[in-house]
Amino acid sequence: MRIDHTHEPDCRSWVPDATGHKTFPLQNLPMGVLDEGGGRIVVAIGDYVLDVQAALDLGYLSALDHAAQTALRSSRLNGWMQLDAPARLQVRHALFELLKQESPAQRHQLQILRERNDSLMRLPADIGDYTDFYCGIHHAVKAGSLFRPDNPLLPNYKHLPIAYHGRSSSIVPSGQPVCRPRGQVERENGPELQLSERMDFELELGVWVGPGTSQGTSVSLEQAENHIAGYSLFNDWSARDIQAWEYRPLGPFQGKNFASTLSPWVITADALAPFRRSAMQRAKDDPPLLDYLKSSQDQAHGGLDIHLDVHVSTALMRTQNLEACTISNSHAQHLYWTPAQMLTQHTVGGCNLRSGDLMATGTISTPDDSGNGSLLELTKGGSTPITLSSGEQRTFLEDGDEVIFTAYCARDDLYSIGFGECRARVVE
Ligand code: MN
Repeated sequence: MRIDHTHEPDCRSWVPDATGHKTFPLQNLPMGVLDEGGGRIVVAIGDYVLDVQAALDLGYLSALDHAAQTALRSSRLNGWMQLDAPARLQVRHALFELLKQESPAQRHQLQILRERNDSLMRLPADIGDYTDFYCGIHHAVKAGSLFRPDNPLLPNYKHLPIAYHGRSSSIVPSGQPVCRPRGQVERENGPELQLSERMDFELELGVWVGPGTSQGTSVSLEQAENHIAGYSLFNDWSARDIQAWEYRPLGPFQGKNFASTLSPWVITADALAPFRRSAMQRAKDDPPLLDYLKSSQDQAHGGLDIHLDVHVSTALMRTQNLEACTISNSHAQHLYWTPAQMLTQHTVGGCNLRSGDLMATGTISTPDDSGNGSLLELTKGGSTPITLSSGEQRTFLEDGDEVIFTAYCARDDLYSIGFGECRARVVE
């Protein structure tokens, strides 16, 4: 997690308007895949994308070794994720050289740059497996207290990052509509099969697994960061009425498996180096960590300094040309466990990971009501509606509602970078 010349606040790019861009300046360089010809790796820079294959064809990035060049010519980012951390850093350095001011690549602008249109992006990687954690402690407390007022956190919560294994094949790219699921819902006279009436979002970060691990081996906390390639925004759509009836004793099933939405850009671990922070301070009466989850380095720098916001746009708001309204301002500092602890926990029993596997953090909420990461919390279990900028009220999502997550990192002494959007509309 080193800071180097690619994080200098005053470095400049030859790409028009990229220097000082609030979301995708030269210091960010997020990776994604354009949905064209089966998939084409691109890098966001300002309001443009760099077509990496076109740059390679012109002889740029030739200082990279063969494995890295092959990975960048692929139709998915799995190969790039598989590179070890030093090799991924070399890719960042090479891209930075190509896009910085006075690079000879500028004269090939027409061949290697395209206008950025995030609606043309596909999922960045083939996701082999997906695991959803539950690391947002304020969400765990608030959601838990709706079900167990006296005992919101179960006894395991502060001993290990807990998770369930989700379904990777129903993860869809940002922009694709999400169908309201049908499922069994508990009713006074017995369960009925119906469309969910309590459709919700969950504000989460996706954590991309870099180099994989073999079955029977585990990753120490000291090594875990090397196995994380980057981060995206993740919406773990949740049908609360279906979930409430089915979840005991085995956990989420139909209430979650119909769809999850992922933002198109992978913000690399290297881009986030200046935006790391201490892990959440454990309270004095919290239980001691077992040694394999404890490291002073991880406690000092393993946290993430990422602002996370939720916006909603309804069908009525769009007909009235109203902007989406912001309903939540949260922050990744509210994760009780670090991404490194999640990855270490995932492998401690010998479970293998593959490059392009996705871990999600769990819903990230603030302790107060300013940054609730789900409607379940915003509306106190559906009992207190919220009022939107159009005057409409919501307890849960209605058809036509569009949920948009955005995120950014900012330091007064440096610059800001953004994550782009995780956006999807609920349809019947
Ligand atoms: Mn979740």
